[in-house]
Order: sequence, then C-alpha cells, then structure tokens
Amino acid sequence: MQVNVLLVDVLDATKFGSCRADIVTRVKALYEDCFAYANRTIKPPPNHTVSVSFVSQKPTPSDTDYVLYFLPAMFWSIITYKEIGTKQSNLLNDHWGYTTKSGSAGAGLGAAGSSKSEVICRSIDGSILGSLVFHEMLHAKTFKDNRTLHASGGLGAATVEGTTQLNNTNRQDTIGTLAKKVTQWTGGWEILHNAKRARDAGDPAWNLF
Ligand SMILES: [Zn+2]
Repeated sequence: MQVNVLLVDVLDATKFGSCRADIVTRVKALYEDCFAYANRTIKPPPNHTVSVSFVSQKPTPSDTDYVLYFLPAMFWSIITYKEIGTKQSNLLNDHWGYTTKSGSAGAGLGAAGSSKSEVICRSIDGSILGSLVFHEMLHAKTFKDNRTLHASGGLGAATVEGTTQLNNTNRQDTIGTLAKKVTQWTGGWEILHNAKRARDAGDPAWNLF
C-alpha cells in the first residue's frame, strides 16, 4: 500500500534553507528503515511504500494517508482551537508535537479512527522536525497515548532528536499500523490561511491569541 505523508505549512514555518528537504529526507529514511526491518523479519513482507511531501493546496487524503500541520513557534495550537475553541499558546507549554485521536481509543491496533496532528517549529533543524513528524504519526496510527508510546523508547520516546534511532518496537508499531484507516482532519488548512491572510494584510495581531 502507498501511504502519503502530506505536510501542511501555510505559514512557512519550515521554509528556510534546506529545512523542508531535510524533513522529507529524515521521514523517508525512518520509513525505509522500517521497511528493511519488515523485509528481514516478515515472510512475505508487506508491500508498503511511503511518499512524503509538502502540499501547496488543501490536502485530500485517503483514510490511510497522514496529514500533519507545521506551526510557527509564535502561534497557538490549531488542534486545541478546533476542538475547544481556545487559542492556547504553544509557547506556554513544552510540547513540540501534538496529536489527538477519536473514534476507537483503546480499541487497539488495526481499529479505525480519526486523528489531528501538529508540530511546532521550535527548531530550524529539519532532522529534528522530521523525527517529530514520525513520532506524531506513531501516535496517530497506533492510537497509543503518551504514557504507552513514550515508554516504548526510540522514536516513540517523549523527547526525540534528529539522530534518534528506531528500535524494534517502533518498527513493529509502524509496520503493523501503516495501512490502518485513520481519517485525517483537513480543516487546519482554512485556519492557517485565515492567519496568513491577516499576516499578508499587515495585521500586527495575525498570530495573537
Ligand atoms: Zn508523544
């Protein structure tokens, strides 16, 4: 199965230097590692491929694709805004990435559901941001909460670096859930475009809470 990782960055939070290319390279490399593991350990191995790209239009994901929103550090959680109507600052807490899930929490691997994911660009290192994309996709696909996923270590740990290595639990979690149907939220596109319009119009309050 082809799974498309669709990265949304309307406010250009990652658009400098080689950051975007480094994010794509890092995420692809992590999936290639998982596929190599599957080829070594599963007979016959699942025939999965992953594409990773920044989208320039509102994404139209299938239920097996994955959508993630990049946010500038001086912004707020669009997921929290969507779910409870609060523009909660992302500077006042320490999360770098955030994923919420609904539909089948606790139903285990393989069950369907829906998710929303965002990563806050508190670093300009594309490898770190790529690791965060992979980490959030683990939350989204496995439906593992913070306590469970973070205990698995590697790219599942609470803190990930640009050079953090996958462990076999991460690989098994990825291979076992990549084809799982998790409906993706696309409404973040409009939220970010509204902020972009205000910024482009010179509104100094474009990113205020
Ligand atoms: Zn996490």
